[in-house]
This record gives sequence, C-alpha cells and structure tokens, in this order.
Amino acid sequence: MRPNITASSTALFSTWVFIENFGVLLDAGDGVSASLGQKSRKVRHVFVTHADRDHICGLLQLNQLNARDGIPAIYFPKDCGSFPALKEFFSKFDPQSGVATWTGLQAGESIKLKGELFVEARTSLHVVSGDLCKALDYTICSSRRTLKADYRDLPGKEIAALREANGEEAITEMRTEKLIGYSGDAPELEPKHWEGVRILIHEATFLETETARNSHSNLPQVLRAASQLQLEALILIHFSARYSKEEIDAAILAQAASLSPSFPIYAVYPGEVKTDILASVPLWEPSAPPTT
Ligand SMILES: [Zn+2]
Repeated sequence: MRPNITASSTALFSTWVFIENFGVLLDAGDGVSASLGQKSRKVRHVFVTHADRDHICGLLQLNQLNARDGIPAIYFPKDCGSFPALKEFFSKFDPQSGVATWTGLQAGESIKLKGELFVEARTSLHVVSGDLCKALDYTICSSRRTLKADYRDLPGKEIAALREANGEEAITEMRTEKLIGYSGDAPELEPKHWEGVRILIHEATFLETETARNSHSNLPQVLRAASQLQLEALILIHFSARYSKEEIDAAILAQAASLSPSFPIYAVYPGEVKTDILASVPLWEPSAPPTT
C-alpha cells in the first residue's frame, strides 16, 4: 500500500508530515490542524523529533480539537523538559479538552501502531546534549512472518506438510521492512543511519554547502549521501524560506543530473501544503532502464 503522505515544511516556521493511512503525524508545526481540517481527527500517534518551536507549535490546537480517550498518543525525546511543561500547560489552558497520552522515548524504543506496523525512535544528531535524549528521528517499519529462504522454492503441498509437522515458527522468520525514515532536523544525511529505508523524508535547509550551519543539512550533501542508498523515493523538506520554488527546482535538478540517483525526488516547497506527495509527479525521475 502506498503511504499517503501530506506535508508542510518551512525551516524556522513550521514542519509537519501526516501519513494518513498509518494515522501518524511526524512533528506538529504551526498550522497542522488548520491544513488538515477534519482529517486531523485521523491522527492517532504524534512522533515529535525535538522541541524547536517550528516542530511543536501545532500541538496546542491539535490537542484542543482532537484529544479524547488517550488519543492522540504523543511521543517525544524523554529528556526534553518542554513536553511535560506543555502537557501541564494544555491541561490548565484547555481543561475542557479530552486527554491525550504523553510518552517520553529514547533511542532504540519501538511503539506498535496497528497491525504489522511499528515506529522505532533513533538517535538524532540535531541536539547533542551528553547522554541526554533531547532529539530523535523515527523510522516506520512493518514486521511480518515470511517463509525462510530454504523453503521458498518448495511446492505448496510440501510447505503445508512441514508446517503441520514442525509448526509455523520452524519454517518462517520475522522480516522487518523499514518503510519510511524521517530525519526531523539533522546536521547531515548519514547513509549508514538510513540503510534499508524505502522512503526517506529528509531535511535540506540550505541549497548550497557554504550556507550550511546551525545543525542543518545542505542539499549537495543530502543528495550525494542519499545516492548511496537503495531508496524508493526521497522527499526533501525544511527548505529555508529565502529560496523560491524555482531556485529549489533548479538546484535539485542540476545536482541530480550529475549524480543520477536511482530513485524519484519530491520537494515540499516553503509555505506549501503538499497533499499525497507520492501520487504527485516527482521533480526528478530516474530514466527508465533501457529495454532490450
Ligand atoms: Zn526545524
């Protein structure tokens, strides 16, 4: 199933990414409820990467409109004091609202969503504060039992007999797929960190290397590093508002032309709400392999 991803992201101002069919919101920047309208009621899990205001300011309205019976479940880096403070403030400011669930996470922890889906919290290098967990990034995974490689070529009857004799667990193994990786803010793209991810949503605040600073990524590094990955799609977000759509397009196309990445590239422009991103025409598409 193609994830239905809607996002809005402008560096400094607001970033949120909604994956409708998973009921997941990644970060909750200003305007998320206004943009999603009634669809914001579909948000069941909110995974926040860090407490910069452009990633959290939509929580107040989301909470006021939608919190009920422990939903949404809001997850945040466990050593970040801003979130307990927000929770307390929300309960005083909007005492009539329902109650959400607030849970601090540290890197390595997983949260089960529906069915085979789960989200893994991972170390983000955006805010490094000793051993304290002040920033996370997230990977949405699915995990299911598949036939062990040794048995895959056997006829169905033999597999059924083996299952009968030895049990399901003897002939199958758990297989985890990393469906979506989400960087939040990140100083750069580390290929190793995102190995195996199918769809990567990564920030690219600056179009040129020279302007990279403040623990943010720049487009040349992001595209070079991403080209080492076997992605199915790259979605670039968090561009600085100093750049026009035309400048962003030109920079991505020029750099992609020299790198020839094997995956499509989508861009979320500053100030834009981009709906069902993977259904749109990508900015960059790899040329089809020659048919013989
Ligand atoms: Zn940011």
